[in-house]
Formats: sequence, C-alpha cells, structure tokens
Amino acid sequence: MYVILVSAAHAWGLRGHRIVARIAENHLNETAQSQVKELLGSDTLTKVANEADSYRSDSKWKCAAPLHYVSIEDNEQYLTAEKHAQGDIVRAMFYFEDILRDEKSTKPMKAIALKWLVHLVGDIHQPLHVGRSCDRGGNSTKVRWFGSDSNLHKVWDSQLINHEELSYTEFADFLDKADQPRIEPSNYIAWSNEARQLRQQLYTCLAKDNCCERNAKRACKAPATEFGSCSAEAPELTVNVEYAYVEKNRELLNRQLLKAGLRLADLLNRIFAATPLSDQEKAARVAIEKIRRDAGDPVKDCVMQAVK
Ligand SMILES: [Zn+2]
Repeated sequence: MYVILVSAAHAWGLRGHRIVARIAENHLNETAQSQVKELLGSDTLTKVANEADSYRSDSKWKCAAPLHYVSIEDNEQYLTAEKHAQGDIVRAMFYFEDILRDEKSTKPMKAIALKWLVHLVGDIHQPLHVGRSCDRGGNSTKVRWFGSDSNLHKVWDSQLINHEELSYTEFADFLDKADQPRIEPSNYIAWSNEARQLRQQLYTCLAKDNCCERNAKRACKAPATEFGSCSAEAPELTVNVEYAYVEKNRELLNRQLLKAGLRLADLLNRIFAATPLSDQEKAARVAIEKIRRDAGDPVKDCVMQAVK
C-alpha cells in the first residue's frame, strides 16, 4: 500500500506521531497487542500513525480536515467553546473509540478507527492543536526559526522535534524511562482543556532569551513578552526562536510526547479489554451526546461518506 506523504498545516510531524506510537507499543498488554495485529495485519501502530494526515490528499476525506484540532479561546473550556460545524478532534476521538468498542463494527471499520485514534491522541498533545482561532493555532504567528521564516505551529509540529536529531526509536527510548508520569483516569475533554492551558508558555519569550533582539522597534525590554498574531503589538514583533526557546520548552515538548504515548497505550489496553467506562468517561459522553443532539454528528457523517 502506498502512503502519500503530504506536509500539512495541522499535524505533529511524521516523527512526532511515530514517537508517540512507539512509546504506546512498548506499553500495550498482550490482549491489545494481539487485537492490534488482528486489525492491522503486518502493519504496526508506528507505521500507521501518520495515515490520517495522508488522507488530506484524498478528496473523499476532505471533510476530515477539522478533525485534527479544536479551537478553544484563552478564556474558554472545550464544553463552552463555540463548536466547529464540521466537528473537531475531541468529538472525533469519542467517535473512533466507540467504533472500536462496538462489537457490531466490522473489522475494516475498526482498523480505520484505530488508525485515526493513534493519530489523534498524538495531535491533541501538541498544545497548538488546541489553538486560538485568531492565529489558527499558531499557523499565522510568524517566527524566525534559527534565521529562517517559519510559524509557531510548524515549530511545534516538527522543527523542535527534528532539532534533536534523534530517530523516532531513539527519541522514544530516550523518553520512555523508569521515571514516568502516572497516567490518571481522564477523558478527551480534559486533555483538550489541559493542552489549552499549556499553550500559553509557547507564546512567551523572555528578554534574557534574546528572542526579540532583531525587532528594532520594540526592543523587548519587558522581562517576559507574549507574542503572537493575536496580540496588538504582533505586527512589529517577529520573535527569534532559537536555542534559548528550545531549552525553555524542551521539557514541555518531551512531557507531552511521553504522556501521549502512555495515554494511548492505556486507552488501547482498556478498549481491547472491554474495560467498562469510568464515571468521568461516562459523564464526558453525556456532554458529547448533548452536543450531538444540538449540533448534529458531523464526524460520523464525514466518516460514513468517506468509507462508503
Ligand atoms: Zn493530524
């Protein structure tokens, strides 16, 4: 099977998704491993982790573009945020999980749902996939990346990861050590709110980082400057994203990749063991059902149309 590689505006890069999938593979229990094999055949989670991005070049999946992200403004939470008419990453994840849990789903449908879920657990841990709409999740926040034109979204999707010059296996092994965060019971709504909270750090540069030094008009005298095309000063301010920014954000980047991998493994272990939903997962589903009643089910409509 050919996978057409496209560079997309909204996606952890290829390596980011593979790191997440690789960490998850290290933590799948036997039941999940055999179910994954049953659904994917000789393919692995790592191999299929980017397939949902390759759908972008496929006209029948055009409707799925909004499923890779969600816009939540700074003072909002997922449930209160305005909903995209074509769906979002949170609703998509609930939908694909339910297909995997449903005994009546066909094997090809479950395989598609698994590929999507592996991909989206990665995306939702890239804090700019839970973006502000005013700068399209950092896509329109221009920055200079070691002297080249870039934007903040691209920095976080791929440039910070590639900067480490580790292969995805090396990166996964490096992150996946004994000292690990405990994976608490959670749900996709909580993950989106968490990413929304984390993203503020991504828009902050400190004067001591020299991240504004080439902005003559605005010398960045303030100890900390928030940048981004959502702020009024933005037209004068294109920050230099260089070593100091990389150092300052490395821990957050690594933590998100590791958490995504561990959460993905935990999720698949529970799905394939048919573990009953926790109370908070049930409560989240009630909230999602309400959104479906009010706004329809664009995720389902899109997937049904794409696979028919
Ligand atoms: Zn994506």
